Amino acid sequence: MQEIGANLSAVRGRIEGAARAAGRAADAVTLVAVSKTHPADSVRAALAAGQRVFGENRVQEALAKFPGLRGDFPDLILHLIGPLQTNKVKDAVAHCDVIETVDRLRLAEALAREMERSGRRLPCFIEVNTGEEPQKAGVLPEAADAFIADCRGRLGLPIVGLMCIPPEHEEPALHFALLREIAKRNGLDKLSMGMSADFETAIRFGATHVRVGTAIFGARRVAAAAAK
Ligand SMILES: *Cc1c(COP(=O)(O)O)cnc(C)c1O
Repeated sequence: MQEIGANLSAVRGRIEGAARAAGRAADAVTLVAVSKTHPADSVRAALAAGQRVFGENRVQEALAKFPGLRGDFPDLILHLIGPLQTNKVKDAVAHCDVIETVDRLRLAEALAREMERSGRRLPCFIEVNTGEEPQKAGVLPEAADAFIADCRGRLGLPIVGLMCIPPEHEEPALHFALLREIAKRNGLDKLSMGMSADFETAIRFGATHVRVGTAIFGARRVAAAAAK
């Protein structure tokens, strides 16, 4: 647990260094600490070290861990960074603060309806499948402009930026550059890109949010141990 605090300062230091090298302010980059599969106690250790922004990839797991933590840390901010099923939209809107994975029309419509119904308008990122991988979520790059316009215009969703997860064995820089390009031509200024292995590169390409798990919390535990 002590390690989590030390890991966090190391990651923060690297973020600052990468931002400075890119001529950007260090506070232009938000660190999203990805706590999926790690227990609530690990999140508490990060909170004790001053971290407030977290990422979870499953609504169920977020629900099991975070409501208790919020009682003690009301300024905590939770990003949903994993695939969202339409039947989980209600819980996601109630318990998360940012949705990073708007990736298809049916989901966008369900989110718009639920935000309207609940009065909770959550900032959303659209996930782009920059590598055009068949098994991966996200809108294809060539469909992104129309999808973004539809989400913002017809559905009135609060879209703030774009998110991507580059293919595992490709140079991430090309994907970060493509995401930045799509965001720019659509007037979106937030970019969620970069994980433990490549967040410094992502910052060089303009990331405003980096999603870092392993470098903070260590290797992931099996999913069954997660929800405690
Ligand atoms: C797990 C996960 C991360 C964090 O990955 P690390 O390599 O552990 O830093 C980032 N983004 C998404 C979408 C994830 O699912």
